[in-house]
Amino acid sequence: MILPTILDYTKEQLATQIKPAFRAKQIYGWVYHQYAESYDTMQNIPKSLREELRGKYIINPLNTLRKEEATDGTIKYLYELPDGKTIETVLLRMKEEKTDETGKITQEAKYTVCVSTQVGCKVGCSFCLTAKGGFTRDLTAGEIVAQVLEVKKDNDLAAHRRMNIVYMGMGEPLDNLDNLANAIKIIKDEEGLCISGKRQTVSTSGISSKIDKLGKMDLGVHIAISLHAVDDELRTELIPMNKAYNIASIIDAVKRFPIDARKRVMFEYLVIQDKNDDIASAKKLVKLLHGIKAKVNLIYFNPYPGTEYARPTPQDMVKFQEYLITHGLLCTIRDSKGIDISAACGQLKEKTEEER
Ligand code: SAH
Ligand code: SF4
Repeated sequence: MILPTILDYTKEQLATQIKPAFRAKQIYGWVYHQYAESYDTMQNIPKSLREELRGKYIINPLNTLRKEEATDGTIKYLYELPDGKTIETVLLRMKEEKTDETGKITQEAKYTVCVSTQVGCKVGCSFCLTAKGGFTRDLTAGEIVAQVLEVKKDNDLAAHRRMNIVYMGMGEPLDNLDNLANAIKIIKDEEGLCISGKRQTVSTSGISSKIDKLGKMDLGVHIAISLHAVDDELRTELIPMNKAYNIASIIDAVKRFPIDARKRVMFEYLVIQDKNDDIASAKKLVKLLHGIKAKVNLIYFNPYPGTEYARPTPQDMVKFQEYLITHGLLCTIRDSKGIDISAACGQLKEKTEEER
């Protein structure tokens, strides 16, 4: 029998499962701040309770199968879950740390962890490698939380180190909303991984009804919408689910979503050569996002063997970006971090399976 992980539970949930309830807080301290790997080290927990915990929950559900570091500092992990399935997690290091002549840190490196929420994905986008393997299962809350915890441990990052979380790994986060919400709560908890909601971004392919549900949960997280197309015909070709949740329904849901006054909704736009990289599309995009506090992130399509799509030219990317900027939209181009370690989601997993 596979035991659940203790990382599955919010502090409140854990407190209902063990006696006395205040021990939940101590266990949180050991697991999330001291990075304890076994119950034996939890010295302020009575031996009998430690025994009970050992029989009920494992601590770490992840086994590192593979770790690849790109020349730009990006690290990609392939983890094995207790049932033998595998997922990917990526650590992006945005800026190098800078120190002054006395050795004092003047600028911290910015860390972002890209987390998976499912093994496989049901949405079936035509450009996505994760979709090719179909859907296997949802991750539990603890399997989501564990990815952040493992990356912190592996990189010697202190418990309170400031960092960002993006739910942009494998899977559709809103298709696993209950576990996602618990994971967000555990990651937010000051006694958990202490990364505030403001620093967590949920990326979705646009399940409008679930965007509303997430909004109502009021977790204080940001959303990123994988828009990728400005008309429904092309969007349905790229993301079949667009038939049920079309562009208009997504835009409406975004307008209802609670957004921090200083923040913007991110729209991801995957640029594919000769599909959506023309100025006519850029023009429609400006119109579509009119009245929304939006930020557009242009992503180069990252090709893989067997795909029918191609990467756009840098010239077309820049032209597209310039059009948006001159028409009042904030727009960045996502630099292809870690391209030499197959960084598009699903590509490390694929590589390992081929070699097995
Ligand atoms: N399911 C969610 C989150 C995971 S996918 C979503 O779709 O938003 C995370 C991002 O990776 C999405 O924006 C997706 O468009 C992008 N992506 C998928 N395949 C890609 C590829 N081959 N090249 C570049 N980006 C890709
Ligand atoms: Fe799923 Fe996102 Fe890939 Fe689409 S892009 S198949 S929603 S993981």
